[in-house]
Amino acid sequence: MTSTLFRLQSNKFSTDNIQATLVCSKCAEVFSKEFPLDLEGQTIEFKCPVCSSAGETDLPYKSPEERDNLELDLDLVEDEEENSGEEFEESY
Ligand SMILES: [Zn+2]
Repeated sequence: MTSTLFRLQSNKFSTDNIQATLVCSKCAEVFSKEFPLDLEGQTIEFKCPVCSSAGETDLPYKSPEERDNLELDLDLVEDEEENSGEEFEESY
């Protein structure tokens, strides 16, 4: 049995989800779908919204550029909340 695969055509990370443009290997239709950020880098299964075939795709990891952009926003919020004056350490 061959399972359907959704090929990732493009993706974009927003602050609360992953917007992916995918191509179904079964019906060859292009569709876009949003995934929670938690699923970053994971293989996930879902049904094609066009032909309803169950399939899977590998979601990408956020690129360093996109990560920087998001962190920039977070830093601004954190700076307002805690003005400790200490150098902010990256803890991961
Ligand atoms: Zn399909």
